[in-house]
Amino acid sequence: MNKVILRKTEEIENWRRNINSEINFIPTMGNLHNGHIKLISTAKNENSNVNLVSIFVNPLQFDNKLDLENYPKTIDNDIKISFENGADAIFIPSTEDIYPPNNEKITLLKASKKLSSALCGLTRIGHFDGVCTVVYRLLNLIKPRNLYLGEKDWQQLLILKNLVLTKKLNVAIKSIPTQRDFDGIPLSSRNINLSKNERKLIRFFSNELLVAKENFQKEQKIRLKEIIRKLSAEKISIEYLEHLHPHTLQKARVEDNISILAGAIRCGETRLIDHVFLMKRRPIIAIDGPAGSGKSTVTKLIAKKLKLLYLDTGAMYRALSWLLIKEDIDYEKENKLQKILKNISIVFKSNDNANQDVFINNYCVTEEIRSQEISSIVSKISSIKEVREFLVEEQRKIGESGGLVAEGRDIGTTVFPDAELKIFLTASIDERAKRRKSDKKSKESQEIDIHTLKELIKKRDFEDSNREISPLIKANDAIEIITDGYSINEVVDQIINLYNYKIPKEIQIQ
Ligand code: C5P
Repeated sequence: MNKVILRKTEEIENWRRNINSEINFIPTMGNLHNGHIKLISTAKNENSNVNLVSIFVNPLQFDNKLDLENYPKTIDNDIKISFENGADAIFIPSTEDIYPPNNEKITLLKASKKLSSALCGLTRIGHFDGVCTVVYRLLNLIKPRNLYLGEKDWQQLLILKNLVLTKKLNVAIKSIPTQRDFDGIPLSSRNINLSKNERKLIRFFSNELLVAKENFQKEQKIRLKEIIRKLSAEKISIEYLEHLHPHTLQKARVEDNISILAGAIRCGETRLIDHVFLMKRRPIIAIDGPAGSGKSTVTKLIAKKLKLLYLDTGAMYRALSWLLIKEDIDYEKENKLQKILKNISIVFKSNDNANQDVFINNYCVTEEIRSQEISSIVSKISSIKEVREFLVEEQRKIGESGGLVAEGRDIGTTVFPDAELKIFLTASIDERAKRRKSDKKSKESQEIDIHTLKELIKKRDFEDSNREISPLIKANDAIEIITDGYSINEVVDQIINLYNYKIPKEIQIQ
């Protein structure tokens, strides 16, 4: 494909008509650095869409005229960098092109009031309104499939996600973590304006944030006053330093697992922002749903793609059922059950086929627990209070430091009620029976006729949904996905998109 430079809005329309592909859009204000390069190359490597980079210094988002005049302009180098790193087209409009005088079609937008009345919004009056106005205008012109933005401007990212949502725009926002220079300071087009001493100060500031993050991991608390005192001692002029909820930008609460420590400082004429995410444990995805809804297949693929631990809690209930039957334990008798639960160990181990084997008291039971005998008894056994208490505790131990995707019936409601993402996966009974029939894991299911299979699933649904302790129900904050008519990959992508939407990339790579 020929690489092109477009300057007029009409040219965008012509260009769009001639490309046979969806568009990745990477908006910039020029003076490109490695952060922009990462955005362009991420877009390039992620899919086969056409990549359009825009270079436009948007006057509406400057609350200070001098700042606008001093904003570094390096257009020839920007064109070179963009093309070398994966741009197929570059859009370089003039201010008049983006904001034609007296054009009534151009609406000045207001950023979400809630999100823009914190952090930078407090001092940079009108800044986020300007950002929303220009991005909305560009999105309407370009109509991209994906919009690539950096997490360095986290507040801006939230505001633009909110804009896409409220304006119902058909574009997916993809983010990349803050890119840092060799000395740890976030890359920014404004960095070239820094003197040696100013750079030293910002390095001190960024490093303090990093130290705060490490301390938080150890102590689970943040000493804001102490950090402010240390920064002030270095004569760093702090505009704000706040510990907030990462999505609402309201004050962080003790129960928040993920929070953000964000600050802005002034170095001479230059104002710089930086932030770190604080985490008590790594994120957790909870996937609940009835038998045959596709949970296992989907959960396994998500674990692989997101490099998370995979926890199949159903296998634990099945393994325990297997042992109780094998050892002929009268599980209706509380004392017998208590005794055996004291000496049970269930572990998962990766096997040669890149799958997991499940062991109970050193017996490998991966295949046997899929038998019809186990399937027909497991719901009864899993409704016993002592069994649930024991296994829920085991599951919580496995998930203590997070970084996992767990599937089951009560993950979002009971095991990990504070999971960052909760999915309730279901499908019609016909679809679920069809899936079970072709389930390679269970040879027996393949041999049962579809009508009987349907009845067996219905029975298990009923038992799981009507038991007294933690029955199968959708958690209030879970997102329901009905999988009829969707391929496995479509469901997996949908869940990964939800995860990426909620969890900063910065956290995902740690
Ligand atoms: O998911 P799977 O079909 O392997 O689960 C087997 C059974 O284990 C379920 O039907 C349910 O009775 C029980 N179970 C449960 N809670 C979980 C996971 C499974 O009660 N978290």
